[in-house]
Amino acid sequence: MQYLTILGSTGSIGTSTLDVVARHPGKFKIVALTANCHVDLLFRQCQQFKPRYAVMLGGDAAAQLRERVREAGLEIEVLSGAAALEHVSVLPEVDTVMAAIVGAAGLQPTLAAARAGKKILLANKETLVMAGNVFMDAVRASGSVLLPIDSEHNAIFQALPRGYDGDLAGNGVRRILLTASGGPFRNTPLEELQHVTPEQACAHPNWSMGRKISVDSASMMNKGLEVIEAHWLFNASADDIQVVVHPQSVIHSLVEYVDGSVLAQLGNPDMRTPIAYGLAWPERIDSGVAPLDLFKVATMNFTAPDFERFPCLALAYQALRAAGTAPAILNAANEVAVAAFLDKRIPFLYIPRLIEAALDALPVNAVGSLDDVLGADAEARRVAQQQIGKL
Ligand code: NAD
Ligand code: MG
Repeated sequence: MQYLTILGSTGSIGTSTLDVVARHPGKFKIVALTANCHVDLLFRQCQQFKPRYAVMLGGDAAAQLRERVREAGLEIEVLSGAAALEHVSVLPEVDTVMAAIVGAAGLQPTLAAARAGKKILLANKETLVMAGNVFMDAVRASGSVLLPIDSEHNAIFQALPRGYDGDLAGNGVRRILLTASGGPFRNTPLEELQHVTPEQACAHPNWSMGRKISVDSASMMNKGLEVIEAHWLFNASADDIQVVVHPQSVIHSLVEYVDGSVLAQLGNPDMRTPIAYGLAWPERIDSGVAPLDLFKVATMNFTAPDFERFPCLALAYQALRAAGTAPAILNAANEVAVAAFLDKRIPFLYIPRLIEAALDALPVNAVGSLDDVLGADAEARRVAQQQIGKL
């Protein structure tokens, strides 16, 4: 039996994780579920999975949930606040933490899980973008097992040699090919991009996801964040990682070896496949995902990324090359910009402008500790908000 904490259980990844867990009642037991503010859904999940703990970020939401749990006669301790997220990530009875909070809010509980030596299923890519060296040091020091859930990184993990030790060349790898769908605006005329709405940006052609990552996919910042994520997970430099636009989202990424072999992982675009892989690794379990029908796929296309159409992707490569606090600055400015776009306070094309302004305004410092990361994050949010104020 594997005992689990799901950080962000009410989100897209969280609900997909619970869908897989529910298929294998003899293998997994939920210890803790956490969410930001969706009381109804977290309550329903509590009824179904009967965790020992449920965490709502806000105190009011927690009070509402506590009342409903009491009325239903469930024996669940309801906690609130950011410290409670860390608490349920380090409990001795927890084996595995699914890190599926969106954005910078996921960093500290995920880092706490790493420090506590938990097996980590990492969906929250922002943890690695912001604090890659701090997080990877914690993973190494505690001996945590770290399994990537992001579909591309999960594919790369599967296509690399078992027990890959962080040495690409030593393992005969020439480069990593990171696939991207290109999102909903891959072919939108450039002059129309100025006027696209949050609804259009969130209507991804292949994947159903949370709103923040959907906007990131539309700007291709998601792929930029994933390049940085791949850098930390696989010890790959910016030059080792080639983004390949593949609109069908059937090949989830590839590893190219020096002998000319290219190994890929394919599947329907459904996050339950990488989630099930992470949950059961090194075994395989049913995920509920339909078998891939290659006759239905019929054709697959590949093109080079368009850095002019998608300046966010270029900014992410730039931040990775600048290293230090640059990726944390990029990430924080992007979070502010995406939230402002979703609130209809800025047009879509201002997202890269705000990020560029933050990267230009702030010094890049070395990252020695979590505080360095949090400082850069706060500064970048301040600069990005200032820019929005000037509009
Ligand atoms: P989502 O918006 O659907 O869900 C986010 C979850 O985090 C919710 O449970 C929400 O309650 C919780 N949350 C939000 N803000 C919080 C806060 N401040 N404190 C505590 N909890 C908070 O997001 P998602 O699409 O499931 O994505 C989650 C993470 O997984 C992101 O980092 C995303 O980049 C990554 N990811 C998602 C997908 C996908 O298909 N959805 C694929 C790859 C990677
Ligand atoms: Mg991905």
